[in-house]
Amino acid sequence: MEIDPYEVLDVAKDSGPAEWKRAYRRLAMRWHPDRNSHPEATERFKAINIAYERLTTGEEPEEVNADSPDNEPAEPEESVARAADIRLNLEVSLEEAAAGCRKTVHYARGKDCPTCEGSGEAGMSRTRFCDACHGSGRVHDAHRKLVRCDACDGKGLFRERICPDCGGSGREADDVSLKITVPPGMLPGDELRLAGQGEPGNDECAAGDLYLTLIIRTHPLYQLRGRDLHFQMPVSALAMIAGAEIEMPSLGGVFGYSLEPGVAERRELRLPGKGYPGRGRNRAGDLVVELEPVFPRQLSARQRKLLLQANAALVDDASESLPEIAEWRKNQGFD
Ligand SMILES: [Zn+2]
Ligand SMILES: [Zn+2]
Repeated sequence: MEIDPYEVLDVAKDSGPAEWKRAYRRLAMRWHPDRNSHPEATERFKAINIAYERLTTGEEPEEVNADSPDNEPAEPEESVARAADIRLNLEVSLEEAAAGCRKTVHYARGKDCPTCEGSGEAGMSRTRFCDACHGSGRVHDAHRKLVRCDACDGKGLFRERICPDCGGSGREADDVSLKITVPPGMLPGDELRLAGQGEPGNDECAAGDLYLTLIIRTHPLYQLRGRDLHFQMPVSALAMIAGAEIEMPSLGGVFGYSLEPGVAERRELRLPGKGYPGRGRNRAGDLVVELEPVFPRQLSARQRKLLLQANAALVDDASESLPEIAEWRKNQGFD
């Protein structure tokens, strides 16, 4: 495919990577076959990709072959051209995500800047030094030899024309505030799609969509793993030994839980269905609690008296309650 990459991207011969990238983005968006029903859209889109590839790498990508059916872009899902979608992150707390919430999202959407017609380039040209070589035009290669800088073609600088009205973005922004409802039980990374809330449409194309990707803020207590909620909780060693009723936190509020009597050591409890709520066919997760025994540090006179009574009761029945002690005493001939 014989093409002049500068002509295809409509950039000057002395233009640099920043201008190529801007031109490429603008043209690729305009000629993407999913968005443009023009009969030549597919060919133009291919030529744009080849031109950009050739300018940035200096060679033609071999996988792009105009005659190969394997490289045909996927059939557009709909024949109506659509403006670009907008993708944003939506950050909420764990409680908000679990219960569902109402949120207002602020974002900018817009149309092509009328001054530069979306190219981002207009007005006087200005000079910018190349970041890669700090303006020297030469960089060290892998063998620490000084070689020509590829980023600026050895010139050390770029000539740029930044549109003063859009700051080079090519867009004329329109600030939007949109009230949205987040349904309960969405997980981090789940997407909400708001049809028609992306880049605005015009006579030739319909508006794009807005996609919101859910981000859940780190919670001071719970860690979300799948739909299970994990946390650690210190518990009195005596409560673990005797099997007391303890107060257990959950997203649904604090509830009473009766511990099984047992040994005072790290213990994991799993409470099915008490974790993060379900959604659709996905069931609610578990509450997974790691209990950490805490031994009393200071005793009041009354506490000491009660514990001594408890200890006496244990010693009285040492063969059941304290078998190691009972065995040791027997071996020493105490009893
Ligand atoms: Zn502009
Ligand atoms: Zn350079």
